[in-house]
Amino acid sequence: MPTRCLTIDPQLPDPSVIAEAAAILRRGGIVAFPTETVYGLGANALDGAAVRRIFAAKGRPANNPVIVHVTSSDAARQLAAEWPAPAERLAAQFWPGPLTMVVKKQPHVPDEVTAGGATVAIRCPQHPIARALIDAAGVPLAAPSANASNRISATTAKHVLRTLDGRIDLVLDGGPAGGGLESTVVDVSVNPPRVLRPGLISADALSAALDMTVRTAEHAVVERGAAPSPGMLARHYAPLIPLEICPRGVERAQELSASGQRVALVTHLPVAHSLPSVQVAILSNDPAGYASRLYQTLYELESSGIERIVVVTPPQSAEWAAIHDRLRRASA
Ligand code: AMP
Ligand code: MG
Repeated sequence: MPTRCLTIDPQLPDPSVIAEAAAILRRGGIVAFPTETVYGLGANALDGAAVRRIFAAKGRPANNPVIVHVTSSDAARQLAAEWPAPAERLAAQFWPGPLTMVVKKQPHVPDEVTAGGATVAIRCPQHPIARALIDAAGVPLAAPSANASNRISATTAKHVLRTLDGRIDLVLDGGPAGGGLESTVVDVSVNPPRVLRPGLISADALSAALDMTVRTAEHAVVERGAAPSPGMLARHYAPLIPLEICPRGVERAQELSASGQRVALVTHLPVAHSLPSVQVAILSNDPAGYASRLYQTLYELESSGIERIVVVTPPQSAEWAAIHDRLRRASA
């Protein structure tokens, strides 16, 4: 049976639509909804069987924990066995918003959510639909990105349905998810805190808020010699077609195209001359604007018969770190 899709105003969500979605969640169902990062696929986080449905729908490996969404830091503390000072400070500064914090979990948080681990990842989203839905459900919502496992995170309802149609109970279509990239994940159960996944909030911004150096994911991988969390697997967030990152992207795209392949070029720079046989997608040269369109662009290219994607290497400055991270994984 195809999944139902209800259109809803992202600024002033209709309470009757929210109530219908919340009723599905309270019955143990799974519902996709927009957030300020990407679309989430939500279930009652306190109901292990409901959370297992998320894993089944996505084909997600059981060892990959999911983020729990709440609407206040009080609600977050009810899931946490410890709420260290850095958690308090980061919550005060960045919540609601695209920051996920990993803390020691309370015993009532099911193993399905934490992949059996002793910590739980918690986020307080800012998007009005996400907030209304969590409040109406009356429970915290476990929600990974609303797409099949290993695929690009969905940032529109259409792209949710591309991989999950018929596998989930409902999609709330509130238009494109604004941020376009997954949240920053920071582990505050260790001291000093450590970024496990770069995102829309930079490690520098976290360091400034805490008055201490927050270590980055790169450091974490080097130090431990292995990814400390499954979201750091080298290949993740991947398009279905080969993607390469290249400083001289225009030339590379032309070269591939001359060899007879259907090539797309994704760039943050204006393209001086026309490239007759290359499909060109020009994204913003500002990192926030670029992030908000990246996944959507990759989904569109996937379904347009393109065989290769060449991405012009974005600037190396810190604000582009999360974009570099996702492109690296997409090209692995
Ligand atoms: P996604 O499936 O795209 O929403 O990403 C969820 C990500 O959150 C996971 O892949 C992990 O990187 C991270 N995460 C969730 N729970 C934990 C946890 N307890 N410890 C460390 N990372 C976590
Ligand atoms: Mg994901």
